[in-house]
Amino acid sequence: MKKMSIAERLGTVSYVNQGKSEAKPHILVDTDICNHTCPHKATTYVCPANCYTIDEAGKVHFQFEDCIECGTCMYACDQNAVTWHYPDPESGRGVKWNFG
Ligand code: SF4
Ligand code: SF4
Repeated sequence: MKKMSIAERLGTVSYVNQGKSEAKPHILVDTDICNHTCPHKATTYVCPANCYTIDEAGKVHFQFEDCIECGTCMYACDQNAVTWHYPDPESGRGVKWNFG
């Protein structure tokens, strides 16, 4: 079997309620902290799904839709900016693991 890249592996992830526009975020990020007091912006380096990004102006943005629930940002943020809950499959998204 061909070895898959990280990007290819991420492409195999599917979600409960995929396409449901009113899905509630399971992670809330206080981007005021990111943009005003965070000295390292660690989550923009460690999130495997690229949910945390920095724009050309140096501002941090967060989107939960591609999250694969790895939990890394919960530990990487030492600035109390991240509030993390497992998604409610009814109202949130929630990863559907295709390969176990
Ligand atoms: S480490 Fe925390 S405060 Fe810093 S950018 Fe990431 S989420 Fe924001
Ligand atoms: S839980 Fe993992 S994939 Fe989801 S936003 Fe945090 S670091 Fe990214």
